[in-house]
Amino acid sequence: MEWTEVSQVPQKKRFQAIKGTRDLLPPETELWNRVETTAREVFGTFGFGEIRPPIFEPTELFARAVGGDTDIVSKEMYSFEDRDDTSVSLRPEATASVCRAYIEHNMHAWTQPVKLYYIGPMFRRERPQKGRYRQFYQIGAEVLETLQQGQGGPKDLAKDAAVDAEVIEMVRTFFARLELQSVQLEINSIGHSAPVVDGKSVCRRAYVEKLKAALIEVKDQLGEDSQRRIDTNPLRVLDSKLEHEQPIIERLPRISDHLCDDCRKNFMEVKRQLDLRGVPYKENWRLVRGLDYYMRTTFEITARGLGSQNAVCGGGRYDGLVELLGGQATKGIGFAIGEDRLILSLQEAKKGGVAAGRDVYVAWMGEKAQETAIKAAQALREAGLRVELPPVELKFGKALGQADKVGAKFALILGEDELASGQWTVKTLADGTQEKMAAGEVVEFVKRKRPEKRNSGRVKQ
Ligand code: AMP
Repeated sequence: MEWTEVSQVPQKKRFQAIKGTRDLLPPETELWNRVETTAREVFGTFGFGEIRPPIFEPTELFARAVGGDTDIVSKEMYSFEDRDDTSVSLRPEATASVCRAYIEHNMHAWTQPVKLYYIGPMFRRERPQKGRYRQFYQIGAEVLETLQQGQGGPKDLAKDAAVDAEVIEMVRTFFARLELQSVQLEINSIGHSAPVVDGKSVCRRAYVEKLKAALIEVKDQLGEDSQRRIDTNPLRVLDSKLEHEQPIIERLPRISDHLCDDCRKNFMEVKRQLDLRGVPYKENWRLVRGLDYYMRTTFEITARGLGSQNAVCGGGRYDGLVELLGGQATKGIGFAIGEDRLILSLQEAKKGGVAAGRDVYVAWMGEKAQETAIKAAQALREAGLRVELPPVELKFGKALGQADKVGAKFALILGEDELASGQWTVKTLADGTQEKMAAGEVVEFVKRKRPEKRNSGRVKQ
């Protein structure tokens, strides 16, 4: 690529955000912050700590972890040659980074299990539409546990099930706290890919062989993508949304009929554990998820108002991924919530009433009042209130108009009278009432009288 000389850029050129990326602006960012604060609070109550991995990593990490045949890696990554000729990529997801960090920082020696969450942007070169962007944000969490000697037996399957269910319960608690509407959880078990036993494939391997054979028989009736996937990733055919493929898929063999004993018992226990936690779910045998690293439990959550892109969270178990990346045998389960979609759904259901506005607008009049106004604003802000202080003197009517525009609840009026008497005037803008009080009483008064919830009503911009 050649850089355009600065002198060649037309002076009036208007730059725009790159397709599939966007600016998040106030007042909407208030809602983003509230969502992220709630995530931190809820995840903290479940014992999770925050990890902030880098935004770019070696391309090889994603190819190995997510899978070279997946759409994400083969078509959607933003990759580039670094100056030392190594290929690096903007992260399309964060589980690979978390596992890389787990190994790099010897977290197997930390108290087990290690529970981490992350919040941040991901990058995939998809076709942009409502709820699908090229830079989007995920809130995710992972539970990792390195196997100690003697672990890994049948007892562990029950333990895994409880861990899976608690992770799902945590997402549900988070969504409930946000009052997300029409939340639906779908779960499945995709078995495990055991090596060939006595010359025979079992569990998922055996199922995939059967599925492949069944797909070859109906190949002519399938669309182009599904035809290609018969060879590259037959499970992904089950994900197809093409209408004419639906009746064909319904007749395909189902994984639930092919799970090995261990996987079947484990799945039953996951369901029992969800019941114990009062978490409702629906089974969906077609839920296979797009990333290669999943095994056994997979889940997806949908919410209201998102159209075709209605999956707001996806997750599953990925024992073996850490080992695949060069670490010790380690179990893993995690999820990623699409924050953009979460926000869309909250806005759709009017649960995202953002806004804040200001608590106090300081309307000062007369040059002498400016210093008092500055001090008053400092004291109010110190008390945590949101304050607007006009940089220049405004006429009374204009100041009240501005106060209304920025959504202020109160106007603190500081004119000659107030300065002379030390009795300040506070106007409640909702009902127009006015009261005089000593300077020291303003903070208490505003705190007592301001509406409980800051996030009701929008700011007029
Ligand atoms: P995945 O890593 O593909 O399982 O995605 C987990 C969640 O991230 C999905 O359920 C979506 O909510 C969200 N997500 C994935 N890709 C995008 C995208 N391109 N734009 C917005 N959200 C996305």
